[in-house]
Amino acid sequence: MANDYDVVVIGAGPAGYVAAIRCAQLGLKTVCVDEWINHQGEGSLGGTCLNVGCIPSKALLESSHLYHQADKDFAEHGLSVKSLAVDVVKMQQRKDQVVKDLTDGIATLFKANKVDIIHGRATIVATGTVEVVERKTRNLSHTLKAKDIIIATGSSPVRLPQAKLKDDYILDSAAALELKQVPKRICIIGAGAIGLELGSVWSRLGSEVVILEAMQKFLPIVDSKLASLAKRSLIKQGLDIRLNARLVSTRVKAKKVHVVYEDKAGEQQDSFDKLIIAVGRKPNSERVVSDALTLELDERRFVLVDDRCQTSIPNVYAIGDVVPGPMLAHKGSEEGIMVAEHIAGNEIELNYDLIPSVIYTHPEIAWCGMTEEQCKDAAIDVNVGSFPLLASGRARAMAETEGMIKIIADAKTDRVLGVHIFSVHASELIAQAVLMMEMQATSEDIALTVFAHPTLSESMHEAALSVQKRAIHIKN
Ligand code: NAD
Repeated sequence: MANDYDVVVIGAGPAGYVAAIRCAQLGLKTVCVDEWINHQGEGSLGGTCLNVGCIPSKALLESSHLYHQADKDFAEHGLSVKSLAVDVVKMQQRKDQVVKDLTDGIATLFKANKVDIIHGRATIVATGTVEVVERKTRNLSHTLKAKDIIIATGSSPVRLPQAKLKDDYILDSAAALELKQVPKRICIIGAGAIGLELGSVWSRLGSEVVILEAMQKFLPIVDSKLASLAKRSLIKQGLDIRLNARLVSTRVKAKKVHVVYEDKAGEQQDSFDKLIIAVGRKPNSERVVSDALTLELDERRFVLVDDRCQTSIPNVYAIGDVVPGPMLAHKGSEEGIMVAEHIAGNEIELNYDLIPSVIYTHPEIAWCGMTEEQCKDAAIDVNVGSFPLLASGRARAMAETEGMIKIIADAKTDRVLGVHIFSVHASELIAQAVLMMEMQATSEDIALTVFAHPTLSESMHEAALSVQKRAIHIKN
C-alpha cells in the first residue's frame, strides 16, 4: 500500500466513513484507519452506531415491539397467537446479522469508492503525518503522509466511580444489548435516550425495569408537553421511572447488584439482577495526537473546531461525537460531507439549528428546531398549533392513537420555528418538518399543502391549520 494520501480519516463511524467516501468521490486519495474489534476479534467498520449503538438497539427495539404487540395489542385486532414465546438467543442472532450486513456493507462501499482501510490505532505525530499501529501485529506498521487529516474518533460511555463495570452484573450500554436471557429485575442509571431505549427493550420482553434519573425534570431537552405525555406513556408501559434519584453506591453480592441511591425522601436501597449505566458519553479525544502537537480541547475534553470543523492544528479537522454539539450519527455524517467538500475546495454549510432528534420509545419522540420554552427565553412571540393523533383516521385504523404533533410558528412572520412529535413513526414524520423548515416554510405554507389521506402526515397538516385556528378535525 502506498503511504502518500490526500486525506487520512481516523475513525470509521458514521462521521468518518461518510467523510472518507465523500473525499474519495471528490477525487481525493483517501485512507480510513479504524481500531474497532468485534466479538469475533475482527476489525469492524461503522463505529459505535453500527456495532453497539443505533443499529443493534433499533433491531432489538423492533423485535421486542413485535413481541409486545403480539402479546398485548393483537387481541384488539381480533388476532390471537397460541404459545407466544421469546427466544432471546435467536433475537440476538438476528440483531448480530443486521450489524454484520451493515458493517460489511461499509467495507464494500470503501472498496467501490477506492477508500483504503487499515484496521489499527492512528496517532497524528506531526502536521501531515499519521502513525498507525496495526491491530493484528500491534507493531508500528505504517507511517501515512497526507495533506489533510480528519479526526472522527467518536465517543465512549461515561463511567461512574460508584458503579464500576462488572461482567454479567454492572453493564454499559453495549453490554446491555448482548444479554442472552431476559433478566428478572434491571436497574438503569440515566433516563436519557439510551436509558429509555434499553429500558423499553427489556421491559417489553418481560423484565421489571427501574430507571434512576438524577434530574428532577424528565427529558429536559424535549418540549415539556411531549415530555410529560411520554413519561405517562412509559410509566403505563411498566417502566418505573424514579426522578431526583442520585446513585450513591453499588455492591455485587449473592448474584445481585445492591444499589443505594438518594432521593427526596433520603437514602433508598434496592436489589437487581443487572445494573445498566446510561449516563451519557464522553469524547474520544485522548491520544489522538502525539505530545509534540497541541490539539485544543474545551473544558469537557471535546475537540475545539471552527465553523468548518478545522481544529487548532492546520489541515487537521474533527467531526462527529468528538466535537461539541449533539452526539448524533446524522450530525457527524453531515459534518463529514461538509469537511470533505471543504478539502476539495467546495464550500457547503451545515445548518446546526435544524438537526432532528429522535428517541425510539413507543410511541417515538422526535423534534427539530426550537421548543416553546426556548422561544420564550429568546423573547420570540409564537403561535402554537397542535393535533392529537386520537383525531387522525389513520392512527385510529392502526390503533396507534397515542400522542400529538405540535408546530411552533413565529407570531410576526409565521415562519415555523419548531416541530415536536410524540407519535408512532415520529422518526419518519420529523423528516418532512426538517425539510419544511430548511425551506423556511410558514405554517400557512404547510396548511396550503395537500397531504394524502389517510396518513399520519395529515396530523402535520392539521397542526399547521391549528396554528391558524382553522383545524378541521378538532375544535379550535
Ligand atoms: P444523556 O446525556 O442523554 O442521558 C443521561 C442521563 O443520565 C441524564 O438525564 C443525566 O441526568 C442522567 N445521569 C447522569 N448521572 C447520573 C447519576 N449518577 N444518577 C442518575 N442519573 C444520572 O445520555 P445517554 O442517554 O447515555 O446518551 C448518550 C448520547 O448518545 C447522547 O448524546 C444521546 O443523544 C446519544 N444517543 C442518541 C440516541 C438517539 O438519537 N435515539 C440514542 C442513544 C444515544
